[in-house]
Amino acid sequence: MLPCTQKIAELPFKPKGVILSGGPYSVYEANAPHVDPALFELGVPILGICYGLQELAWHHGKNVLAGEKHEYGHAYLTIERHSESEEHIDRLFKGMEKEMEVWMSHGDKLSKLPDNFHPIASTSNAPFAGIASTSKPYFGIQFHPEVTHTPKGKQVISNFAIEICKARPDWTMEKFVDKEIERIRVMVGKKGQVIGAVSGGVDSTVAAKLMQEAIGDRFHAVLVDNGVMRLDEARTVKETLTQHLGINLTVIDASDLFLGRLKGISDPEKKRKIIGNTFIEVFQNQAKEIAKAAANTPQAGDIEWLLQGTLYPDVIESVSFKGPSATIKTHHNVGGLLEGMHLKLIEPLRELFKDEVRALGTNLGIPEDLVWRHPFPGPGIAIRILGEVTPEQVRIAREADKIFIDEIQAAGLYRKISQAFAALLPVKAVGVMGDKRVHDQVIALRAVETIDFMTADWYPFDGQFLKRVSRRIVNEVNGVVRVLYDVTSKPPGTIEME
Ligand code: GLN
Repeated sequence: MLPCTQKIAELPFKPKGVILSGGPYSVYEANAPHVDPALFELGVPILGICYGLQELAWHHGKNVLAGEKHEYGHAYLTIERHSESEEHIDRLFKGMEKEMEVWMSHGDKLSKLPDNFHPIASTSNAPFAGIASTSKPYFGIQFHPEVTHTPKGKQVISNFAIEICKARPDWTMEKFVDKEIERIRVMVGKKGQVIGAVSGGVDSTVAAKLMQEAIGDRFHAVLVDNGVMRLDEARTVKETLTQHLGINLTVIDASDLFLGRLKGISDPEKKRKIIGNTFIEVFQNQAKEIAKAAANTPQAGDIEWLLQGTLYPDVIESVSFKGPSATIKTHHNVGGLLEGMHLKLIEPLRELFKDEVRALGTNLGIPEDLVWRHPFPGPGIAIRILGEVTPEQVRIAREADKIFIDEIQAAGLYRKISQAFAALLPVKAVGVMGDKRVHDQVIALRAVETIDFMTADWYPFDGQFLKRVSRRIVNEVNGVVRVLYDVTSKPPGTIEME
């Protein structure tokens, strides 16, 4: 994935083909991004998607303008077939049925067909929903084949990459693991040592296991128990990582320090900052200890590297043509914050998407329940306890969360749901328990389904399930009198509550 500003002469390899992606600009705007025209001299197949199609048309005669109607959502695409002599222009939709459901998201359109192009597909609103050059392997589509709402989209991409570009689909997880382990060994060398924080989540565990396979105990994992992890989490993470995965792990129990600093704080942003900064402080002190100890090991190497579980979506974000986005989460940048240690970053997952990280985890022998873990925020349940975080609030939120997650697992719903948790609201409500009036706390349950975490919908549990969870929480968690279920989608809600 390269930014569109890439100079073709400076490409470090010769591609088999190029896909021009979509984008928010309009090609006719003054400041719109354009590809290096040398791209069209490369002589390789090109597929333009949405903005990419418009860019292709713009290059071939500037035939793009704002449409009268915007088109967002489902559309039906009709594929046109051509005579046998022009068969090559049908290759993009080879083997596909005449009609298919596609997802559209555009406002601009082609005003006319560029010279030497043929229409290969249309919708009722877009006569040029698909075009192909009659003389060159150039294709453009107005719809988005890359989203789940275009069910046959993968076939289109595969036709382009495999049939048209002749790319070989020979990437396998086994080969990736071997190559990556070798690459890490060469990079780190015979003496270098690597340090990295682990959280018990999928990404950091998979990255840690890969390091352990590559360099054994020269990788030093650190788990900081911040006092706001899930119930029993620190203990179970330690068990899994050391006993099952053989990772060289140090656990630091800093719960008192974190909870002490969180005392009296109820502003969500302040909570996040305190937890983030305290984490860096604790991790940094530990890193120095480990560095001292490492200097006395048989390998006597210095800690030169910091492991980070960066995934490909973060990388994509940082190649935006306007430069790295300011929205990249700060926890991906702890590297720069380890003052005075001058560590180099090692990011073995940077070419993988989440589903591939999971497949890699399975391949490395990481237990299934860890590989399929729901995401858990860095500030932990501190941001699921609305209001002040006290040890007593932590107890309540943890116990309620444990019951909710256990019930989701027992009902076989854990993998269907993308993220679920119990939040503790900063209010009290009245109830009656054992004939006595009580005034106690309120738990809000949240469970969402999502593919990419950008948008999400709440999970429609059946009534019996909610009844069971609510009864258990009220009966088993001291201090809770009511249980609510959050029925807000994202947007406008966020997945977490703070
Ligand atoms: N901004 C362009 C349009 O509105 C392209 C949109 C896209 O690539 N999704 O048509």
